[in-house]
Amino acid sequence: MAAVLTRAQATPMLLAIGFDNAKRDYITAVRGFQTGWNLGQALKVDGVVGQKTSDALRLSFARKRKGQSTMSPHFSFIEFRCNDGARFPECKRIWVLRDHVRRLEAYRSKIDAPVRIVSGCRCPRHNAEVGGAKSSQHMYGTASDIEGLASLREKQGFALFAGLGFRSSNKRVVHVDSRDKGGHNLTSGKPAAPTTWEYAT
Ligand SMILES: [Zn+2]
Repeated sequence: MAAVLTRAQATPMLLAIGFDNAKRDYITAVRGFQTGWNLGQALKVDGVVGQKTSDALRLSFARKRKGQSTMSPHFSFIEFRCNDGARFPECKRIWVLRDHVRRLEAYRSKIDAPVRIVSGCRCPRHNAEVGGAKSSQHMYGTASDIEGLASLREKQGFALFAGLGFRSSNKRVVHVDSRDKGGHNLTSGKPAAPTTWEYAT
């Protein structure tokens, strides 16, 4: 078993996989890594780089170097990073929930096609500047905007997500979320009965 990583060893690995806050906000970056990691058993989210987190980070970093995904079998941390251009110092950068990533993996296998993440995590300031909802699930790491390859009816049939936003023009789903896993579920949406809404574009 390889040794526990020191902060000096772990920081460049975190930077390489997308945590551009790893130097200035190491514990937050470690927590973000632990929150989303899905290449093995769930990690305890404590911001401490112990043996399990060290092994997980080594694996993600090795996969990155081979051009493979770093968070789950088909998704990488960097795809979910807040798109604010790193302008807001309080931004945690990447804090997507493992449960949401697991659903995206299941969705990907149901449609049997890659899923592109358009927008993942959003800090409150970035959410406000893009006109997101006040209680947007993007702020809780439980949502992603994706390129919609399935219709609303198909997605409801999959029973994977608790919230589905779709375009009124073509009925394609562009937002999926796991609000039932994030503890901020004002609409009580769940996979068996998801909350749905449309965007007028
Ligand atoms: Zn941000």
